[in-house]
Amino acid sequence: MNFQETSKISATFGMPPPSRTRWGTMKHMKILLIEDDSAIAGAIVDSLDAMGWEVHHESAGLPGLDRMGEDQWDVVLLDLGLPDLDGIEVARRAREGGSFPIIVISARGEETDRVLALELGADDYLVKPFGMRELVARIRAVHRRTSGISPSGTDTPLEVGALSVDSRARRAFVGEEELTLTPKEFDVLAYLAKDPGTAHRRETILQDVWDMNWYGSTKTLDAHVAALRKKLGDPRWIESVRGVGFRLQPPQ
Ligand code: CA
Repeated sequence: MNFQETSKISATFGMPPPSRTRWGTMKHMKILLIEDDSAIAGAIVDSLDAMGWEVHHESAGLPGLDRMGEDQWDVVLLDLGLPDLDGIEVARRAREGGSFPIIVISARGEETDRVLALELGADDYLVKPFGMRELVARIRAVHRRTSGISPSGTDTPLEVGALSVDSRARRAFVGEEELTLTPKEFDVLAYLAKDPGTAHRRETILQDVWDMNWYGSTKTLDAHVAALRKKLGDPRWIESVRGVGFRLQPPQ
């Protein structure tokens, strides 16, 4: 990050954080920040702290991973350009060990980085420089999507054949066996399970599950579907509908 970018971020971060009243109903958030640039990290910590949220900061990938495993986090903010380990690798290892929601914050805005990060299970991708309000909005959106705060009517587990999807507990089972899913894989599965037998357009799924905060190809979705098919133990659970998208139904 060059000086100009840093000062631009500082300037944006200098804005007062959104008022407490507007976000007053938000639960207390516990956030892990993995970022090696101390100026940016300081600005983020100060601003999220001002929201009344708890922020822990690590300035490298390996200590960040250690910290991740030591506690429960509502959201992990992950920089990609880290001194010891690339953030992409941190995201990959994080996914093996657990499933905290991850928002990548990076100066690298290339589509390959975005697609890779999202395929590896990051929940959102924010390109530096960004404003504090934007960051807070993304954290809230990711938290809302991943914390099981579901619209009314989906509180009881959905049953599709042997598959059971509990959006409140964020757990999915095939028969008695629980599936180990990344937050995004869970979201895609829960989305499809709401209307079993219905073909959903790729674009609609991306829009609803990812909030379309990035201009990606549909490759990310395809990668998630491929992973889900593997985890469901039978690829026929999620059928490709040519020229449209995907349909979930019990294998026949
Ligand atoms: Ca960095």
